[in-house]
Amino acid sequence: MANSDYYSTLGVRRDASQDEVKKAYRRLARELHPDVNPDPATQERFKEITQAYEVLSDPQKRQMYDLGADPFATAGAGGGAAGFGAGFPFSDIMDAFFGTAGGGRGPRSRARRGRNATIRVELDLRETAFGTTRELVVDTAVVCEVCQGAGAAPGTHPDTCDMCGGRGEVSQVTRSFLGQVMTSRPCPQCQGFGSIIRNPCQECAGDGRVRTRRTIKVRIPAGVEDGTHIQLAGEGEVGPGGGPPGDLFLEIVERPHEIFERRGDDLHCTVQIPMTAAALGTVLTVETLDGAEEVDVRPGTQSGQVISMYGRGVQRLNDSGRGDLLIHVNVETPGRLDPAQEELLRELSKLRGEERPPGKFAPGQQGFFSRLRDAFNGR
Ligand SMILES: [Zn+2]
Ligand SMILES: [Zn+2]
Repeated sequence: MANSDYYSTLGVRRDASQDEVKKAYRRLARELHPDVNPDPATQERFKEITQAYEVLSDPQKRQMYDLGADPFATAGAGGGAAGFGAGFPFSDIMDAFFGTAGGGRGPRSRARRGRNATIRVELDLRETAFGTTRELVVDTAVVCEVCQGAGAAPGTHPDTCDMCGGRGEVSQVTRSFLGQVMTSRPCPQCQGFGSIIRNPCQECAGDGRVRTRRTIKVRIPAGVEDGTHIQLAGEGEVGPGGGPPGDLFLEIVERPHEIFERRGDDLHCTVQIPMTAAALGTVLTVETLDGAEEVDVRPGTQSGQVISMYGRGVQRLNDSGRGDLLIHVNVETPGRLDPAQEELLRELSKLRGEERPPGKFAPGQQGFFSRLRDAFNGR
């Protein structure tokens, strides 16, 4: 590291001013910062330019370096790449890169996180039950390719704001009877950014991103239901100034099914069967999500009885199990009888001694008395 040339590392001349050194470092740091560009070779470059900047930005160290010594190697941690971060206060890096020194004060970064977005996805029951893959078209913002998110026209760089000197805030000292009071406020000239983009990128008007429409393919897991939100991290729009993207949320809207009503992972449906079939028992063919299946209806089945088909419901989200299909039986009384049928039924009712049945109250039907009371009260 000692024999590398710090001036060429930063790409400045030996007589570069402090301001030029700072600008050169900022420009490079923006490209090479690990948050922007995580590949190892780039990180190594970032360490090198940061080391060079540490030396050249400090007049004393720069003088030592010009005289042939390497202040970085002697300053700490045995020199070399391991010295990075050891002898160099982190805030200086932050200051150079984002312009934020000391506890978040100072200029704010132009890069901000993009917003989250939510899109609704309509699915039918079969898709929510078994999962599906969808191609979705999303209107979003992506990094401007012309300026790579920086917002400045290619070949230009933001100028340090001359009103605040790049600090992003202006301070004022006022005298009061309590003594001197210093107040700070965001710089009105640069809106607190510490720099001014004099030549905004024409493609994105300085925003660092452009609106676009893109298609993404998403896998929707089995078991989602109406109102489920699926988070797709980093699939939202990118932020201004090349900031990281927000998240994309999919809101599931389940279309009602014409036969099945979904309650959790179970499905419910109602089938009508004739009185004779309910009495004698039968085999029904039921259309399930897995296709047509046969179901036994036992002799003597009552109206309102429920037949369960285990594991024929909806797949549980993040689980291998499935809910059940519950078939509610509705027994139909024949409406019109021809003379022969009536004859047979009369015969049957005589055999069963049901010609004048007494009538029984079923449990839970005490409502009769309250209806009676209401009738007396004239309601
Ligand atoms: Zn641009
Ligand atoms: Zn300013």
